Amino acid sequence: MPGPGPNTTQLIGIAYALVFFFVGTYLWRTGRFRKTTKYLLLLVTVLVGFAFFSPMIPHNFQQLVLRSGDVVGFALVGAAIGMAVFFLLAFLFGRHFCGYLCPIGAVQELAYAAPTPKFRLPWKRGLSLVRGLVFVLILAAGLGFSISVLGFFGIQDFFRLVFSAGFVVFLAAIALSLFIYRPFCRLICPVGAIFQIFASQARWKIRRTEACIECKKCEMVCPTNEAGRDDAKGECYLCGRCIEKCPVEGALIYGGKIQNNTRDREKTP
Ligand code: SF4
Ligand code: SF4
Repeated sequence: MPGPGPNTTQLIGIAYALVFFFVGTYLWRTGRFRKTTKYLLLLVTVLVGFAFFSPMIPHNFQQLVLRSGDVVGFALVGAAIGMAVFFLLAFLFGRHFCGYLCPIGAVQELAYAAPTPKFRLPWKRGLSLVRGLVFVLILAAGLGFSISVLGFFGIQDFFRLVFSAGFVVFLAAIALSLFIYRPFCRLICPVGAIFQIFASQARWKIRRTEACIECKKCEMVCPTNEAGRDDAKGECYLCGRCIEKCPVEGALIYGGKIQNNTRDREKTP
């Protein structure tokens, strides 16, 4: 027997995410994605998360894992297709979903914007490895023992304002985000692990042009250590800090592969 179909609020959430994904990508591509747009979008996403439970892909992923041994109904197939669409979009355009459309990511991004001391974690590979291990744990606990590891984080309770033990756990993760950039995304989120793989091969991403003067200011400000010339950008959340900090107009752009970059020019006598 097929499971229940998506309800109206879920459909609104998905429509919202798709529309703003393409609007965001267009604004990035044309260089019109400003700081005010960023915070407006983040705020709307957090509020929509409260009001409509907009697409919570991590939560959907956990549901998928928990029910995979069960009857695969329409809702699960729909969730799987929806996820695949966003993974494909990450492959084409980078992690706009994580950057601005996931309420879990948005609430951490807003917390990190608070004027608090920041601690940048230098171990990029180590963090990805931990998240990979958590990914395996989520799969094993869900498939083998029907345990929802993400359930301990009270994500739903937080966005629905249900005060539970899980609510407090997720609140603690947000409190940590005041000092460390997106700890839940970078250490726990199972779909973050998948997004990283797709986004590292993204067709459009932030790239340096030949205008770059190698001052490395972008690298110093990037909270995920992804602003280096050769970094794949798998953990780039399109926060925009590198572009804001760059002293040379046009040295960093969002788009496809650049043919004649500085390195090529340096090699030319
Ligand atoms: S990494 Fe996971 S929690 Fe973070 S923004 Fe992406 S989907 Fe959301
Ligand atoms: S500073 Fe730049 S490279 Fe680093 S995460 Fe933000 S947008 Fe991506």
